Amino acid sequence: MTAPLIDPFHRAVNYLRVSVTDRCDFRCVYCMAENMTFLPKKELLTLEELDRMCSTFVRLGVEKLRITGGEPLVRRDIMTFFKSMKRHLDSGALKELTLTTNGSQLERFAEELYACGIRRVNVSLDTIDEGKFADITRWGRLPQVLRGIDAAQAAGLRIKLNAVALKGFNEDELFTLAEWCASRDMDMTWIEVMPMGDLGNEDRLDQYWSLKDLRARLAERYTLTDLAERTGGPARYVRLEETGQKIGFITPMTHNFCESCNRVRLTCTGQLYMCLGQEDMADLRAPLRGSESDAALENAIRAAIALKPKGHDFDYSRQKVDGQMSRHMSHTGG
Ligand code: SAM
Ligand code: SF4
Repeated sequence: MTAPLIDPFHRAVNYLRVSVTDRCDFRCVYCMAENMTFLPKKELLTLEELDRMCSTFVRLGVEKLRITGGEPLVRRDIMTFFKSMKRHLDSGALKELTLTTNGSQLERFAEELYACGIRRVNVSLDTIDEGKFADITRWGRLPQVLRGIDAAQAAGLRIKLNAVALKGFNEDELFTLAEWCASRDMDMTWIEVMPMGDLGNEDRLDQYWSLKDLRARLAERYTLTDLAERTGGPARYVRLEETGQKIGFITPMTHNFCESCNRVRLTCTGQLYMCLGQEDMADLRAPLRGSESDAALENAIRAAIALKPKGHDFDYSRQKVDGQMSRHMSHTGG
């Protein structure tokens, strides 16, 4: 029996988020610059390498795998990877295989994803206004995403909507989005915008809309009941009594969830980030490529987990972005 991954603060690491590409068919203003330079192909883990990497983590006790990006569904042949990961669901080693997507390719892939054992999908959507959607994603088209959501629900996938809270952008859709999600039986989560490097086009502090404020506004119309549910991540949930739906709040800037953190993140180049808010990372690609046996990779993973920091370090409080990260969400996968 392989010993599970336990970090120095006695947290079991059983959740891996994997970015399978740095590319995307959208250019959301808070995430990417319009003219992005993407990584050369040889830097990326191949689908076979991703499989070996994820399978090693599963062997070491990872029970939940979330695939992300960039946009995971634009990676060529990504369905081959999902199909292959199904064996870990079938064996019972993996409890959940899921993904975070912008929804643009869901119309094409929803049924196949369901067939691969995926049951829940997070779709990122900040607005249901067609013009605003085109503005914020630059290259995205709302009807395509809505068709994707329809297809996913028809295929039996449960959808949770993720919206980034942006001051002056989707404040006026707080109730519209809640009601739209309720009418489609979808839960939703609001995410506080994070200082992820300089994109040269937006001032993050101007866009910052605190979820405390958002929550207070929601409470003006609905009865909010706090839910005890904890995912080991930065999300906290309430139930809207009037609609019965669950609304989550992800406040990555606060430290109140680090003590229960159960997750690590793998980039598409095989770097393992132990904490979203810290630069500490371990290169797993070298041990993976360096040997056909998985022993070196396993050792490198264990050594990395032993360095998982206690917590992270963002701070907006002095009206300047301390602890600002130079890497983008599209690199670590959000
Ligand atoms: N392309 C997929 C998508 O959009 O869902 C997956 C990758 S995307 C990087 C993952 C999540 O990160 C999305 O929900 C996106 O809104 C969020 N995100 C990107 N940049 C962010 C930022 N600066 N602050 C907060 N959330 C951000
Ligand atoms: Fe692409 Fe997702 Fe980043 Fe938007 S948030 S640019 S969809 S990776």
